Amino acid sequence: MTPSPLLAAPPSALVARLAPLHAAMTHWRHALHAHPELAHQEHATAALVARVLGEAGLAVTQGVGGTGVVATVHGREAGGASLGLRADMDALAVREAASRPHASCQPGVMHACGHDGHVAMLLGAACHLARTRAFAGTVQCVFQPAEEGAGGADAMIADGLFERFPMERVFSLHTWPDLPAGAFAVHDGPVMAACDAFTVTIQGRGAHAAQPQRAVDPVLVAGHLITATQSLISRGTDPFESAVVSITRVEAGQAFNVIPDTARLEGSMRCLSEGARERLRRDLARLVEQGAAAFGATASVSFRSVARVTANTPAEAALAARVAGEVVGPAQVARTLAPSMTAEDFGSFLAHRPGAYVWLGQGAGEDPPALHQPTFDFNDAVLGLGAAWWVGLVEAALPEGKG
Ligand SMILES: [Zn+2]
Ligand SMILES: [Zn+2]
Repeated sequence: MTPSPLLAAPPSALVARLAPLHAAMTHWRHALHAHPELAHQEHATAALVARVLGEAGLAVTQGVGGTGVVATVHGREAGGASLGLRADMDALAVREAASRPHASCQPGVMHACGHDGHVAMLLGAACHLARTRAFAGTVQCVFQPAEEGAGGADAMIADGLFERFPMERVFSLHTWPDLPAGAFAVHDGPVMAACDAFTVTIQGRGAHAAQPQRAVDPVLVAGHLITATQSLISRGTDPFESAVVSITRVEAGQAFNVIPDTARLEGSMRCLSEGARERLRRDLARLVEQGAAAFGATASVSFRSVARVTANTPAEAALAARVAGEVVGPAQVARTLAPSMTAEDFGSFLAHRPGAYVWLGQGAGEDPPALHQPTFDFNDAVLGLGAAWWVGLVEAALPEGKG
């Protein structure tokens, strides 16, 4: 893709301070893009992160929640306050469909969600903070594995992240191709949806395809359940609430002339509150069990929690937006965008600590490649903006001279 120019604006003082690190951030970003690693396998990525942070003179802990890395930065002034800054490290099982000098060397694996850029920006900020330390208190730079639906946040938390590396507030950012490069978006409340994966197993009775009277046809039951699940949204959900149920996989039978015994459906449910999540789970289970029973079959549903709701807390959202305004100008900070129904496991961090998760625009042209697409690439032009936001956030949240 052709990176779009940044929105025309002179660089802020914060961005200018990070300018000397732009070449290094671009170099790290390209190295990470060329060598992507799937969830829980981010060994080379973690090694690069640990090497850069170690060379910056920071105390680095590896192996947190698997391949996670945490680096601690102490401010010039001691202080009780602490902040967690989080970047995600994993790539996706996507085959890159673009020839670029830093294209993936790993067939079928690609940084199609911009996590290469997230790591590079937080590394740049950490290196700057390690040198300037113009804050009071402690900053934990958290490099998280396995964000893409594989439980990396929960793995780090289960490994004692918050106890071993105290942090009172937590922040993260994600690149957002639908926003222009040089813009931020900060939400009050939900940013990304809760997501549950589910599997429906239908047990019927097989028979010859010509003798349906001897069968309890699980394929017919599956068809009715696929249609009926949409009533959970259209009839069961407040029209002013957002929720999605998608059936994405259907599996049954092996031959054109045999009614099978069983059928399986898989899909995902997304919504913007834990209350709606509980209700959708309960109602889907009831619909599956009783819907199948109406045809003489039995069915059950099992759920796998993929992500909690990612919801910003008001004070931290306001702080994040104020700092974004200092980086790109307040007019470039969107405060009223609708949330996305995609999921993000930073919601697990926000379930434990107040904080905010912001979007950093990187759009390129009329129709920029979307996240998770084989032509996606992080826009290097915004590396300095993200790093400047991190540094500004630390200095605003942990100001000197207050003790
Ligand atoms: Zn993603
Ligand atoms: Zn992502």
